[in-house]
Formats: sequence, structure tokens, C-alpha cells
Amino acid sequence: MNENIEKIWVFAEVEGGEVADVSLELVSKAGELAAGFGAAEVGACLVGHRVRHLADGLFACGCQNVYCAEDAEFATYRTLPYTEVLTHLLAEHRPDIMLIGATPLGRDLAPRVASRLQVGLTADCTDLQIGPHRDPVRKKSYENILYQIRPAFGGNIIATIVSPEKRPQMATVRPGVMHKAEPDESRSGNLHEVQVDIPRTALAVEVLEHNTSAHRVDLTGAGIIVAGGAGVGGKENFQLIRRLADVLGGEVGASRAAVDSGFVEKPHQVGQTGTTVRPKLYIACGISGAIQHKVGMQNAGKIIAINSDPDAPIFDVAHYGIVGDLNLIIPKLIKAYKDNAR
Ligand SMILES: Cc1cc2nc3c(=O)[nH]c(=O)nc-3n(C[C@H](O)[C@H](O)[C@H](O)COP(=O)(O)OP(=O)(O)OC[C@H]3O[C@@H](n4cnc5c(N)ncnc54)[C@H](O)[C@@H]3O)c2cc1C
Repeated sequence: MNENIEKIWVFAEVEGGEVADVSLELVSKAGELAAGFGAAEVGACLVGHRVRHLADGLFACGCQNVYCAEDAEFATYRTLPYTEVLTHLLAEHRPDIMLIGATPLGRDLAPRVASRLQVGLTADCTDLQIGPHRDPVRKKSYENILYQIRPAFGGNIIATIVSPEKRPQMATVRPGVMHKAEPDESRSGNLHEVQVDIPRTALAVEVLEHNTSAHRVDLTGAGIIVAGGAGVGGKENFQLIRRLADVLGGEVGASRAAVDSGFVEKPHQVGQTGTTVRPKLYIACGISGAIQHKVGMQNAGKIIAINSDPDAPIFDVAHYGIVGDLNLIIPKLIKAYKDNAR
């Protein structure tokens, strides 16, 4: 089958009145993928209440068409009404590819929609590419299939998953994995208003209250992350990691071993079962560099690793490596930074 890619769509998640960063990252990735197919459309589905003004940000990031469903019923996310809208849009416009952020909302919505449309879905992709595919069982060849790439089997392999027969090819991608292109405010596009009749049965759930916790660990938005692992040695000693993060104006990250040992809370965890991050600077302290940790941080702009073991795998992805005891090195880094900042 020699199919061209004509439409690559993204679900534009709205978070706190803004389009979520992950959606803009996916629009940028969709643009990259579409670039190989001259006239391929990058589209976005925008659902909410009084959200049409957000289309400008999507156009600036490279969308040509935004399909906007506005209704007071969409003010707060509810699974069924959103599923109705997205299923309706995908069935009508039949994009080749549909990308959704692997946020709590996306992880709830994407499988519902995929199930309604009877299409495949790959969750938590860390890379997306397009290429040919040969199915040895059906003895069929396909052109231009979405490679949905993600760690599998506990992170021991990187699997490439394809759904060649059905459209759209659907994938969720974690926040921070894809690179967000600089928005170009001069870009514009077409805003399509969408009317969808939501059946009463889809409105059965009523949202009585919406609470968000005051303090959130913002690993995806952090420019600098100082992360500690099992090598930090204890909860008390983890203050060293916090001090370095504070001095540099960064966020605190951690390996799963540090979280499991109770040194720090789970929201700080970086990696396959934590958060995927892409800061400008990542300092890994006492972290060995297991694959499940590396998949969550290896796309950082610059990586500094501090480890007493010169053969630790973290050095394979580090731009700068310091071999030694973090208890001696981190205080020196803090002092050097403070001295130079004066
Ligand atoms: C399904 C699955 C999902 C997982 N998800 C994640 C995940 O999301 N994130 C994650 O991080 N892990 C995850 N893991 C766990 C992962 O496999 C590793 O066990 C974990 O990352 C190890 O953490 P660590 O590097 O802190 O500890 P260790 O591997 O024990 O490494 C500690 C390091 O500290 C160094 N060290 C010791 N003392 C010092 C010192 N004084 N100074 C400097 N260096 C020192 C040691 O040389 C060593 O390299 C997952 C595992 C599985 C099976």
C-alpha cells in the first residue's frame, strides 16, 4: 500500500486556560513529520469553554487548521463528552495520525477514543518517525507508516510499534519528550467551529468541585534539574541536592531508587515511570544511569554526571563527567557557583 500522509492531528489539551506545553510540543513534532509530505496538514482539536482565542498559539506553532468545539459543558474535562467530540471529528476528517499528550487527561481520553474507532493506540511514545513497513504474516508492504517508538519490557528494549491497517494511527507522547519549536506569531491558519450533539447519557457525570494542589513539582517546565539517586545515601543527605538546585534556581529530580528509599517524594522521579524531562541542564548525582532513568533525561541540553564509579552507565549520556564522591563535589560546586555569581 502506497499511502501518502495527508493529515497529522494533535489534541490540544487546555490546562489552566492555556494550551498545555505537551500539545505544543506535539504540534511541533507533527510539523516535522508533515514536512516530509509537502501538502500534509497539521491540525489540532481544541475542546473547551471560551477557548477559541487559544487557536492563535496553535497557529504560531505550525497548525494550519484548528477544529474548535466550544460549549459550557466542556468547561471541565469529563471523559464522555470529550470522547464524543474527538470521535466525531476523527470519524469525519479521518486524519492519518492523531497525537495526544500522555497526561492524566490524555491517558483517560486516548484509549476511549481509540476503542470507539476500533483503532490501535500506543501509549507513552518517546519517539515518532514515518517509514515503510513489511508485514511478514500478511505478506503486505506499506509505505509511510507511523513508527510509534517506546521502551518495552521494563525498558530493556526499545520497541517500534505500528498499526498499518487502521486510521488514524494513534499515539500518546509524554510531556517533555518532543522539542517545542519557537512560536512564530506571524503565522495564521483556519479556525473551524465544530458543533457536536452530545447525548444526555454522555453528560451523566457532574463535576461538583475542582481542586488543584497548591505546590506542584514542575519538572517538565524546569530549565535546570539537579537529580539525586541511591548514591546520595539518605533522606537527610538529600538536602545537598536541594541546596545545589536552589543555588542554581533549578528543580529537584530523583531516580526511582531514591524515591523508593524515601529520600524524596514520587513527583520528583525522572524516568520511564516518572517524568520525562528536557531541561537545558541536568545534573545527575549518585545515579548509575539505568535505561529506565536515561529514557527520561537523555534529551537534556547538557548533562553533568557525578558518580564515584568511573564505569557507571550515566557517563555514556553525560556531556561532562565528574568521577568522585558527591559529598565532596557538590559543596565545591555550590561554593564555586556562589563565588562566581558575586
Ligand atoms: C519497570 C521499571 C521502571 C522503572 N522506572 C524507573 C524510573 O522511572 N526512573 C528511575 O530512575 N528508575 C526506574 N527504574 C529503576 C532502575 O532500573 C534503576 O534501578 C534505578 O534507576 C537506579 O537508581 P540509582 O541510579 O539511583 O541507584 P543505583 O543503581 O543503586 O546507583 C547508585 C549510583 O550511585 C553511585 N554512588 C554511590 N555512592 C556515591 C557517592 N558517594 N558519590 C557519587 N556516586 C555515588 C554508585 O556508583 C551508583 O552508580 C525502573 C525499573 C523498572 C524495572
